[in-house]
Amino acid sequence: MMTRSHRGIGRRMSRLLALATFFAVLLAALAHTVLQTRRELQNQMLSMQATALALAAATGDAVVEVDRPKALSALTAVSRIPNILMANIVLTDNSTFATMGQTAYLDDDVVTQSDSSIMLLYRGLLPVSVDIIKGGEVRGRLLVVGDIRGLRSQVFSSVLTTFSFALLAALVGVVASRPLQRRIVVPLTDLTRTMQDIRASRNYAAALPDDDRADEVGVMVKSFNGLMRDIRSRDDALQKLAYHDPLTGLGNRVSFQRALDDWMERPAVGASGAVALVNIHGFRAMNDAFSHSIGDALLMTVAATIKAAVAEDVTLARYGGDEFALLLRGVETIEDVEKALARVQAGFVKPLQIGDLELHVTLTAGAVLLAGRAGETDVVDSVLRQVDLALADAKSQVAGKVAFFRPELADVVQEDATVGQALRQAAKDGDFELHYQAQFDLRANRVSGFEALVRWTHPVRGPMSPGVFIPLAERIGLISVIGDWVLLAGCKQAAAWYQQGLPERIMSINVSPAQILAAGFVEKVRAALQTTGLPPHLLCLELTESMFVGSRYAETVFVLETLARDGVKLALDDFGTGYSSLGYLQKLPFHSIKIDRAFVSGADKSTRKRGMLKSIIDMVHVLGMTVVAEGAETNEEVNLLQQLGAEKVQGYALARPLPADIAMARASEIDRTYLALSA
Ligand code: C2E
Ligand code: MG
Ligand code: MG
Repeated sequence: MMTRSHRGIGRRMSRLLALATFFAVLLAALAHTVLQTRRELQNQMLSMQATALALAAATGDAVVEVDRPKALSALTAVSRIPNILMANIVLTDNSTFATMGQTAYLDDDVVTQSDSSIMLLYRGLLPVSVDIIKGGEVRGRLLVVGDIRGLRSQVFSSVLTTFSFALLAALVGVVASRPLQRRIVVPLTDLTRTMQDIRASRNYAAALPDDDRADEVGVMVKSFNGLMRDIRSRDDALQKLAYHDPLTGLGNRVSFQRALDDWMERPAVGASGAVALVNIHGFRAMNDAFSHSIGDALLMTVAATIKAAVAEDVTLARYGGDEFALLLRGVETIEDVEKALARVQAGFVKPLQIGDLELHVTLTAGAVLLAGRAGETDVVDSVLRQVDLALADAKSQVAGKVAFFRPELADVVQEDATVGQALRQAAKDGDFELHYQAQFDLRANRVSGFEALVRWTHPVRGPMSPGVFIPLAERIGLISVIGDWVLLAGCKQAAAWYQQGLPERIMSINVSPAQILAAGFVEKVRAALQTTGLPPHLLCLELTESMFVGSRYAETVFVLETLARDGVKLALDDFGTGYSSLGYLQKLPFHSIKIDRAFVSGADKSTRKRGMLKSIIDMVHVLGMTVVAEGAETNEEVNLLQQLGAEKVQGYALARPLPADIAMARASEIDRTYLALSA
C-alpha cells in the first residue's frame, strides 16, 4: 500500500509537470496568435476601407446621375481585386442601387459590422461600409464584403500547431524531469520499504545504498544510515549486557537458558545431550582470603581453561558467581558426560597461575542427561532445577565430585521445605530444649563448664540433629531467632546454678556467623547477662572459622573485641575443619581453641594423628590460648590429651549432652570421682 502511494508521488509529480508545461506553452502561444491575428485583421480592414473609400468616390457621380450601368462598371472593376466577394450600393432611401457579387452576403447578420474579431473569423467575412458623399451630401452607402477565410484557416493551423508544441513540450518536460523525480522518489521508496522491514523483523542490520551526493536526498540517506549505525551499536551494547558476562566474556545465565531452549525446541533427530553445572570448590574463601581482583582473575582463568577443554559445539556460560554451565551435545550416557567433565577437570590438575599466586582449583559438577526430554512441558526450567540439585548433591559430598540428578534429590528439597515450615513454627513458639555437655578441666580435675547444645523434636519425625536443622535455619534465615532463644535459655540456666551456690562453671554457647552480624548482637548478650544476673566471665561464646570468611571481617572483629572487653570468653569452635589461618588467630581475642573431634578420635592409636594433635596443642599454647579438645570417646584419648598438655576435654568419655538436672548431677559425680582419685 505504502509502495503504491510512493509511486503515486512520482506519478503526481509527472502529471503536474506535464500539465504545467502544456498550459504554459499553450497559453503563451495562444496569446501570441491572438495578437498576431488581431493585427492582421486590422490591416485587412484598413485596406478594405481604403478600397471602399476609393470605390465610393468612383461611384459618386454615377449615384448622383442615377447612372446604374456606370456604377456597375465601377463595381466590376472592384471584383478584380482579390478577396472582395461583394460590393453593394444602397441609396439614402434604402433601395439597392447596384450590386456586384453574391447578394447572399447582404443577409442582415453578414453585413452587421460586428466588433468581435472572433465572430468575423468565425464567418470568414469582413464587411466594410462607407458613405458615398458628393457635393458635401450623403448620396448613399457602399458596402464591401471581403473574404478572410484564408486568415481564419491560418489561425486554425496556428492554434493546432501551438497545441501540438504544447503537448510535445509537456512530454519533453516529463521525460527531462524523470531523473530528478527518480532521485527523489526511489530513495524515498527504499527508505519506506527499509523502515517497514525493520519494524516487521526487528533486524537493525538494514541500510540504504550509500549516496555521496550533497543534495537533500544524499543528506537524508546519510542521516538514516548514521541513525541505523547508532541503533545497531546501542543494540549490540544492550545485547552484550543482556546476554554476556562482562568478566569472562562468556554468555550469561539468560543466554544459556536461551541456548537450552533452542536445543529443546529443535533437537537434531535422535539427538542426545546433557547439561552440566560446574562449581569452583572453595571460591568464596579464596575470594575473601586474597583480593576480589584475584577472585576476578581466577574466574577469567577458569573460564578460559574450561573453554579450552570442551568441544567446539559445547555451549559454555557463566551461570552465576562461581558456577559455569555447559550444554554438551551428542552425549548419550552418564559415562560420556563423565568423560567430557573429566577432560574439563584435567585442565585443573596443575595449579593456576594468578598473578604471583599459584592456586589449586577443584571443580565440582552436577549433570542431567537430556535424551528423550525435548517434548516435556517446562522442560528448560525443570532441567535447570535438576542440574542445580545435582550440583548441590556433588558439593555435599567431596570436592571434585560429579553427581547426576536422581529423583530422590528433589525429594530432599521437598523435605527441606516441609522441615523448614515446622522449624519456623518451633522458632515462633520457642519450642526447643537445651542439653548440656560437661567440659572437664584436665589440670584442676573438675568439670569447669558446660556446652549448651540445642535440641528440637520435629512434630512428626521426632528428634532431629542440630547438625541438620541448624544449617537449615541458617539457609532460611531463622538462625538469629533460634540463637537468641539459646543465648537467653543458656544464660538463665547458668545463672540459676550460679545463684544456687553451686561451684562456678562456665556456660559455652554456640553462635552462628549470621547472629554476630545481625544488628545489636552485643546489646543482646549484655541484656541476657543483665536480666539473668550471670557474671560475664561465666559465659563463653563458641564461634566457628566460617565467621571470618566474608567481606564483613572488620565488623566481626569489632563485635568480638567489644565482648572480650566486657569480660565474656570467646572460643574458636571446630578448629582444623575449615579454612585455618594463623594470621587471623593471632589477631583475634580468643581465650580458647576447640580442636575438632577429627583430630582427637583415634589419636592414641596413630602416631601420625598423635603428632598432629601435639603440634596443634603446642601451637595454641604459643598463641597464648588454651585448648579444649572435642569428642574424646575413650579414656585413652583423655589420658593422651592430658599428656599432651590440653587444658580441657569434652566428649562422650566423660559425659554426653544431657538435660540440665542430669547434666549437673553427672558433673558433680565426675568431680567427686576425681576428688576421690586425687585424695
Ligand atoms: P559443636 O558446637 O562442635 O558441638 C559438639 C558436637 O559434638 C555436639 O553435637 C556434640 O553432641 C558432639 N559430641 C560431643 N562429644 C562427642 C563425642 O565424644 N563423640 C561424638 N561423636 N560426638 C560428640 P550436636 O549436639 O549434634 O551438635 C552439632 C553441632 O550443631 C554443634 O557442633 C554446633 O555446631 C551446632 N549447634 C548445636 N547447638 C547449637 C546452638 O545452640 N547454636 C548454634 N549456632 N549451633 C548449635
Ligand atoms: Mg560448639
Ligand atoms: Mg565443635
